[in-house]
Amino acid sequence: MPPGIKFCYTCDTDEPHRPLTENEEVWLKDRTGQKNVDGYFMCEAPSCRNVRTGFDKRPFDPVIRVPLPD
Ligand SMILES: [Zn+2]
Repeated sequence: MPPGIKFCYTCDTDEPHRPLTENEEVWLKDRTGQKNVDGYFMCEAPSCRNVRTGFDKRPFDPVIRVPLPD
């Protein structure tokens, strides 16, 4: 599988994912209370933006989606 292509739990298909931006990491730390959010990826499918890690397709229940930038 090409790098960046991972299974997305909410799309239920393999989709391109990218690491979070700095702003998104700040947002996710605030959202989850975790101090370290390295290793999280966001699904790039249109209007999905679901967050997963490299190993866990569903780290959050309910799922967390990165908000669109303003
Ligand atoms: Zn997705």
